[in-house]
Amino acid sequence: MSPPTLPRALVYGARGSCPMYGAAYARYGGHTSCYSIETADGLLIVDAGTGILQLGAVLAQRAALPPITVLLTHVHLDHLTGLSMFRPILQSGVSITVLAPPSILPGWQQAVTTLIAPPYWPVALQHLGATVVLRDLPVAGSTIYGVKVSGLAIQHPQGGVSYRLEIGSRTLVIGTDREHGDAVADSAFLAFCRGVEVLVHDAQYTPAQLDTKRGWGHSSWEQAVDVAQAVGARRLILTSHDPNHTDEDIDALVQQAQQRFPNTQGAAEGLLVL
Ligand SMILES: [Zn+2]
Repeated sequence: MSPPTLPRALVYGARGSCPMYGAAYARYGGHTSCYSIETADGLLIVDAGTGILQLGAVLAQRAALPPITVLLTHVHLDHLTGLSMFRPILQSGVSITVLAPPSILPGWQQAVTTLIAPPYWPVALQHLGATVVLRDLPVAGSTIYGVKVSGLAIQHPQGGVSYRLEIGSRTLVIGTDREHGDAVADSAFLAFCRGVEVLVHDAQYTPAQLDTKRGWGHSSWEQAVDVAQAVGARRLILTSHDPNHTDEDIDALVQQAQQRFPNTQGAAEGLLVL
């Protein structure tokens, strides 16, 4: 019997809203939303923000590509804009599957094919090189490359999805772009995250900033900590960093979170989450 394969999950982009560049953003990174979970069977990517370009560069070093599936949390530009320049998508002979649940994101396929096509992009998605298959994902659960994937609707403008990823006894929730305040959605999210090992949670704002950002679709570090404590998470990773927050600002936010939940880190490009 072969030994169980350890999954490997990494952050490739943790910036919210738009990419940022420069020395002040060097440690956490300026690329927008992208996470990867790789098993022996394939590579599962959550979100195709600009972070996916770095993942494409890593894959270009390999002799052969693994099977690739991309899960979208929603189709706002910061979660999608890297897809058209992801190196494997520019290669003929490669097949890439893109998944999202239409029950939470109605019209997501049309949004993707509209945005990656003239006049918004010079070449349409289906003519970039790879064969790209857009497929609807049932939220109740699918198993992809040995990873059990389930989705939950979260509070975000035009809707958003959190993904719970289970590989053997290990669990990871990607809870980016999530606002608090809807009692039903909040309690569903707690149930969804119950007992999770690693919680990657939106923490775009300080508690003080939250007051002026109602309806923008994000959380504060304090709200992320509340969730981690309530669900018994073992590790909390704060993500969806505000584009105006420098590395020092994020350090300060993470340190405050650590006062209440010591096993907290800020999502940074290259960080191993599982
Ligand atoms: Zn969004």
